[in-house]
Amino acid sequence: MAGKTALLVLAHQEKTSFNYAMNDVALQTLKQRGWNVLESDLYAQKFKSTLSRDDIKGKLKDPNHFKYAVETTLAWKEGRLSRDIVEEQKKIEAADLVIFQFPMYWFGLPSLLKGWVERVFTSGFAYSLQEMYSNGPFTNKKAMLSFTTGASESAFSPKGMHGDINAVLWPIQNGILNFCGFQVLPPQISYAVSHIPQEARTEMLENWKKRLENIWEEKPIQYIPVQDFDLPDCTLKKEIIEANSESRYGITVGQHLGKALPVDSQVKSTDTKL
Ligand SMILES: Cc1cc2nc3c(=O)[nH]c(=O)nc-3n(C[C@H](O)[C@H](O)[C@H](O)COP(=O)(O)OP(=O)(O)OC[C@H]3O[C@@H](n4cnc5c(N)ncnc54)[C@H](O)[C@@H]3O)c2cc1C
Repeated sequence: MAGKTALLVLAHQEKTSFNYAMNDVALQTLKQRGWNVLESDLYAQKFKSTLSRDDIKGKLKDPNHFKYAVETTLAWKEGRLSRDIVEEQKKIEAADLVIFQFPMYWFGLPSLLKGWVERVFTSGFAYSLQEMYSNGPFTNKKAMLSFTTGASESAFSPKGMHGDINAVLWPIQNGILNFCGFQVLPPQISYAVSHIPQEARTEMLENWKKRLENIWEEKPIQYIPVQDFDLPDCTLKKEIIEANSESRYGITVGQHLGKALPVDSQVKSTDTKL
């Protein structure tokens, strides 16, 4: 993969953790395959995860009523975002592939990583009213989640105690990655890492290494393109709903049309265009 660049965004506080081991496998394997690898080790960097006036250099447009989105959009256009945000944005610009490695906390991203998304994916840089979803700025880039859980795969099944993992993934994979235009690769989920035998964890690391060897060839998860929605109300076009009228399943986890959720649509890619 000479010429391709990957960015590894890691959110774990402990170097002996399984998340660090997964990140290390990605670092070593991608390098061996000729990738140029950039890293954002968020705890090690002591990355600031809260939004504040300090994120903007120079004069604010309205210091009496600070509006984060307004001020950061302007600051992005005028090159006045704080240095730590700009450094992360430069890494994303350089990356063809972004891998997020983290432990699931409270059904989502650890707050440090969520804060990184909130501060780094500023309006203008990562999205705008004109550029979102299939028209987003990152359509030529791929992104994927690699995360560990405390709970088992069965607990995250459609009849499991925690509910269908596809529903859990929708806000992150659709609401963040697809929203900014990334081609979203199926996630790498390491279930119940603290509760399984050592050999099972070793096997997880080996499977991750195998997958990474040809990661660039993988097909992304399908989402509905923006042109299938009517504006300004942002709802599916009549013909798209009609074309799906006979199906037992909704089109996506979000656009389910009141039907059953499509099976495993957030954990596997398909060749079928939506
Ligand atoms: C605030 C909070 C909220 C949470 N919310 C959720 C939730 O909503 N849903 C959920 O399912 N879970 C949740 N959890 C659990 C959390 O997701 C798990 O604790 C986490 O995913 C475990 O990953 P780790 O890297 O921290 O594991 P670690 O504890 O670091 O590692 C697990 C095991 O792997 C071993 N290991 C490390 N390196 C290697 C290696 N190279 N080879 C083999 N073994 C190795 C370690 O020694 C350890 O025995 C939550 C936890 C916290 C703290």
